Amino acid sequence: MRIAELRTHVLEAPLEQPFSWSVDRTTVRASCIVEIVTDTGLVGWGECFGPARVNAAMVNAFRRHLIDADALATEVIWQNLYNRFRDQGQKGIAVTALSGVDIALWDIKGKAFGVPVHRLMGGPMRSRVQAYATGTYRLDEGDPLDYIVREIRERLAEGFEAVKLKIGVDFEEDIALIKAVRREIGPERQLMLDANHAYDALDAIALARRVADQNIDWFEEPVVPEDLASYREVKASQPIPVAGGECDYTRWGFINIFTSRAMDIVQPDTCAAGGLSECKKIADMATAFGIRYIPHVWGTGIGMAAALQLLGAIPHTPARLRPREPLLEFDRSEHPFRKAVLVEPIEQHGGFVDIPTGPGLGIEVDRDAIKRFTVEA
Ligand code: CA
Repeated sequence: MRIAELRTHVLEAPLEQPFSWSVDRTTVRASCIVEIVTDTGLVGWGECFGPARVNAAMVNAFRRHLIDADALATEVIWQNLYNRFRDQGQKGIAVTALSGVDIALWDIKGKAFGVPVHRLMGGPMRSRVQAYATGTYRLDEGDPLDYIVREIRERLAEGFEAVKLKIGVDFEEDIALIKAVRREIGPERQLMLDANHAYDALDAIALARRVADQNIDWFEEPVVPEDLASYREVKASQPIPVAGGECDYTRWGFINIFTSRAMDIVQPDTCAAGGLSECKKIADMATAFGIRYIPHVWGTGIGMAAALQLLGAIPHTPARLRPREPLLEFDRSEHPFRKAVLVEPIEQHGGFVDIPTGPGLGIEVDRDAIKRFTVEA
């Protein structure tokens, strides 16, 4: 079975309500969707995390190495693409583009064998996964202490038992928000913090100490991803578990995190860190280093399906009769085509999401929606 066609779709849609987080503001949602077709007529879908047009250009740079390649040889193709661009492509766009291609090839492989990807990877380790709600972005107007607490209330009503709060905007306001959200959700539900690398180590440590009594599950991206020394300082100087890794890439990026014990929880994005092939390796490495793996998820239902397939195969760390299970990041912020690209969108029920059991990624992509949201690359 050979690869006959490679297509990239740059999807984009304006937001009704633009939103910000600690380091940026957005007025649109955009994504690069990868479509690979085999000479037998099988179609595989993937998604790249990051700037959509740049990802599409990079995926198209892979074209001559993909057409006519053995579609089932995911490892051969991964190595070939990575090695050809290694000198300038160890991180960033070269790897996010490779991720989208790799995910599409696993979708094809699952369809060729009639099983979901997590079965090909040796699962199921689990059939469903608990989701946590991501959101609480800042709006252009209003008091965040009002509208974020209101948003949290909506998530609880939807059934979520775990929520993540965006911080890193203003030190004192962040602390007030953390306490307000903890009051709203009660003492037991899971609460995580995400600073999107907006603090230095001093502020991150000071903030964490101030909210140490708020029962926080993890403090995500307290400092910039390049600075593992600051990560280690934050981890060593305050009691909240430290998470990160959505801006890190491949086994070689994560080995540095693992060996230097820079994080308690790693969060590779399946659509960025190297696709399903590479993230399974990173997840297995995390097991060996005794570090928790909770994938970062951001994008359309295609990317979420890839994360769910991986979650179906992530080993328990450690194994026990009632092991701690990984969580699914479930973005609840505005996204006009997150659900639209799937014929049957991925939904949460009572805060849990079933891992799709259909062939490949276990999803059916809605071609009309892909067309409707496609913009000129
Ligand atoms: Ca994050």
